[in-house]
Amino acid sequence: MTQYQAPAQQKLDDISVYINGEFVEASSKETFENLSPYTNEKINLVASGDASDIDRAVAAANDAFHGEWGQLKLDERLDYVYKIGDLIEQHSEEIAMLESYDTGLPISQTRKMIARSAKNFRFYADMVKSHLYGEAYQVDDEFINYSVRKPVGVAGLITPWNAPFMLETWKIAPALATGNTVVLKPAEWSPLSANRIAEVIDQAGLPKGVFNVVHGYGETAGAALVRHPDVPLISFTGETTTGSEIMKNGADALKQFSMELGGKSPIVIFDDADLERALDACTWGVFSFNGERCTANSRVYLHEDIADDFINKLKQRVDNIRVGDPMDPDTQVGPLVHRNHYDNVKGYIDLAKEEGCEVYSGKVPEEFSRGNYVAPTLLLNADQNMRVVQEEIFGPVIAVMTFKDEQEVIEKANDVRYGLAGYVWTKDIQRGHRVAQAIDAGMLWVNSQNVRDLRTPFGGSKHSGIGREGGFYAFEFYTETQIIHVSVKDHHIPQFGK
Ligand code: NAD
Repeated sequence: MTQYQAPAQQKLDDISVYINGEFVEASSKETFENLSPYTNEKINLVASGDASDIDRAVAAANDAFHGEWGQLKLDERLDYVYKIGDLIEQHSEEIAMLESYDTGLPISQTRKMIARSAKNFRFYADMVKSHLYGEAYQVDDEFINYSVRKPVGVAGLITPWNAPFMLETWKIAPALATGNTVVLKPAEWSPLSANRIAEVIDQAGLPKGVFNVVHGYGETAGAALVRHPDVPLISFTGETTTGSEIMKNGADALKQFSMELGGKSPIVIFDDADLERALDACTWGVFSFNGERCTANSRVYLHEDIADDFINKLKQRVDNIRVGDPMDPDTQVGPLVHRNHYDNVKGYIDLAKEEGCEVYSGKVPEEFSRGNYVAPTLLLNADQNMRVVQEEIFGPVIAVMTFKDEQEVIEKANDVRYGLAGYVWTKDIQRGHRVAQAIDAGMLWVNSQNVRDLRTPFGGSKHSGIGREGGFYAFEFYTETQIIHVSVKDHHIPQFGK
């Protein structure tokens, strides 16, 4: 296993925007500080792009789309996409370290994310290569109608900080494989991995302008990308309120949107469940990724007959979770991404007390007091109407509730505005399917934790999203279907004014 430098000792170069194949300053020459979640010290400075940088990036992407990139043969284009995947794999350990350093996510978890990110590129290159590229219909013996799929143009990608590299590649891979060009606006709290992907793509030798990164604030760089008339498509992952704002800003230009938004997902545990496995899944599902996970099972509903026993075991797990240095392979929970987010999560824990919860927390070792650490926390005796049950906290915090019967728990599971994910634990196979189907969410897991094959669509319903990413759905989103109607036999054409 690689030996790591303590994060506080690492010095990193400042970060530029990447436009038209060049790493350059922002037009304004403004920068913002990127802070370590582990120490709250400055890691480096980041170029703060604004509307003029977005203009430059979109112009470069547009030129590439109508120029060299658009003229490549399919295999030539896909060779670049495979190469990006190969390079990510070659540099995976270093990228995982950067990701943990920047976000506070434990290294054991970022390693898996980076491995998955490399696969995204291979997966979409394979899909484009092997997928039937359209459909054809023979109409009697007179017409053939057929469809072709074309890239849309400049794809605007706006991403969050919670699993940045994986979520960025999840959008970049299908966008490039299907022939679009890209302007990425990454989250301001996690710029390192977006800068690294620009370096990887630069190293892969893609034509200039195909891929661009404009760091900067959401309200400036992000909003300018959304409003830009030459960006027909926006793929967004982030908070529900931001998604709504983006849709308003893009409405005049009739953009296509993919929206992956917030969640407050239930895990329902019946009295006949395999309780040890359910306990593993429940703790992993909410405390992995420091709880900063869109699909986190942040509400647990326990059947009343098993509740006391399960809560005691949950407390033991919380006591034993290893909170520590994100670079330590044994760490299970690291610091939250930013001090503002830490304050937000701490605020919810205070609110839980005011709302009447009993709060049970694990421990953060004294040596980590400079970092944004929140101990794994149970909100016991929670009630459905509390804000801590209704709102997304996005930290290592789980609200614990009980239920008597199936109907009651389905109603409670559905009684939030979100609908991203849900988890059901029971040995009764019929009940497993029945309850999963009754929960209003985009993705359900029965007797399982958050595993997903790359072919399977990902996304939420209600206020958790619009559309799906992943698998064939991403392929559809990043392409425009065009229908060609061809007459193969002279047929009757209505004659007007003859
Ligand atoms: P956020 O909405 O604050 O920011 C996301 C991105 O949007 C950032 O790059 C930000 O700069 C940009 N942005 C902000 N305002 C903008 C505007 N007006 N116009 C254009 N861009 C703007 O989200 P976050 O705090 O970075 O991420 C956490 C959220 O993301 C959580 O709600 C989480 O559930 C959600 N999330 C969802 C999924 C999913 O797949 N459903 C996955 C990961 C995270």
